Amino acid sequence: MSEPTGPGPLRVEDPGPATPDTADWTWVLRQPCPDCGFDPSRLEPTAVPALLRDASARYVSALARPQAQTRPREGVWSPVEYACHVRDVCDVMRGRLEQILAGGGEVVRFTDWDQDATALEKQYWRADPEVLREELRTAFEAAAAGYERPDGDEWGWPAVRSNGSEFTAGTLAVYFAHDIRHHLWDVNA
Ligand SMILES: [Zn+2]
Repeated sequence: MSEPTGPGPLRVEDPGPATPDTADWTWVLRQPCPDCGFDPSRLEPTAVPALLRDASARYVSALARPQAQTRPREGVWSPVEYACHVRDVCDVMRGRLEQILAGGGEVVRFTDWDQDATALEKQYWRADPEVLREELRTAFEAAAAGYERPDGDEWGWPAVRSNGSEFTAGTLAVYFAHDIRHHLWDVNA
């Protein structure tokens, strides 16, 4: 008998998946978001690292709330679950930028990332806020450092997502920044 690895089997008291987000959010590169107020025309990609560091501190304080582990409504992630999600978004988006830079200006193709499957697999609702706080800080700092790397023309280097959406390092940075900002709005932070 070996020890189980990972978060273990689902339990009856587990809250189950949140309502999946299947929207294609690439429109936020062209127009302001009516929910969180993010305006892509007002953000330079070079400002993204500062935005990430600011957001990191705000997510960390949201985790300190007494209700951080409570879902506000059925099907809606708790602040802890959102924090797990943005931690993983930071890692994915850092990796995608690295892929673009490694491509040297050739079009690179991103692999799929199913955020809702990841949430279930990692059982976000069971995350320990104390542990998560450190993981968040680490993931945000690594992403911020990553997005400080591109220089000049590199911001225009291309990529394509599996659904055909085209990005550059610059639009990826803005897209990523919106995601992070939007979820701050989701958790009121
Ligand atoms: Zn938004």
